[in-house]
Amino acid sequence: MTDRLMGKVFIVTGGSKGIGFSTAKRFLEEGAKGIITGRGVPAGEEAAEALAKVAGADHISFVQHDSSDEQGWIDLFKNAEAQYGQISILVNNAGIALNGNIETVTFEDWRKIQAVNLDGVFLGTHYGVLNMKGQKDASIINMSSIEGLVGEPNLLAYNASKGGVRLMTKSAALHCALNDLNVRINTVHPGYIRTPMVENAPGLAEYQASRAQTPMGHLGDPDDIANMCVFLGSEEAKFATGAEFIVDGGYTAK
Ligand code: NAP
Repeated sequence: MTDRLMGKVFIVTGGSKGIGFSTAKRFLEEGAKGIITGRGVPAGEEAAEALAKVAGADHISFVQHDSSDEQGWIDLFKNAEAQYGQISILVNNAGIALNGNIETVTFEDWRKIQAVNLDGVFLGTHYGVLNMKGQKDASIINMSSIEGLVGEPNLLAYNASKGGVRLMTKSAALHCALNDLNVRINTVHPGYIRTPMVENAPGLAEYQASRAQTPMGHLGDPDDIANMCVFLGSEEAKFATGAEFIVDGGYTAK
């Protein structure tokens, strides 16, 4: 622990697994306290128990919340502030992926993806700015993807959602900067990372780890993304806003 986030209060959506879990763990290791969310209760409670071993049970809580539920966001900020104080770091990390190209994707799947990946990040950013503005330095980190930068034929709806996150973030960041709200908003663009999302898709991890796909020749670890979030959440990043932070083993450098 080096206390880079001492005194900070966080919300990490989708914190029960994968990148969200690692991000909450690194935040706790750096002296912050806060909340992880997710839809599944057993997985969320187990994750909070595991995280409590890092910094103590009084530093971390799990709240069941579907990130596409607007009233849930209002309640989340109200309860989180009552428990820990004003939120200084929000990571809009919750996301889902479904395969489908422009010919095969159903409207139902399209809507399902946008509801979580785009509506959820919009709601988080909207209520985040309203609740986090006016302090010395607040940071909203929106989880996009390399799929928010380049197209993939079989990830049509996912591409659209992650590209939307990228530009919505820039608009929100400009508003905050121009109005001296002291809320920085940035996107993080992971390449392929070894998490349940990737490991549950047959053959995907092996394919994406090939040098033709990821020049470094292996998948990333969740901590590779979590460490970027520590930087963006800390005041080391106080001049960074409206920007894109790519951590992808060279995937988009080709
Ligand atoms: P993951 O292993 O599938 O974990 C996703 C987490 O989000 C879980 O805690 C899940 O818990 C939660 N979640 C899903 N839908 C939710 C919703 N509607 N509301 C609240 N929580 C929800 O995913 P991951 O790989 O860690 O990915 C995290 C983020 O990084 C996503 O936005 C993803 O698109 C992005 N990303 C991942 C990769 C990669 O290679 N892994 C690459 C680029 C970008 P519940 O299911 O219990 O809700």
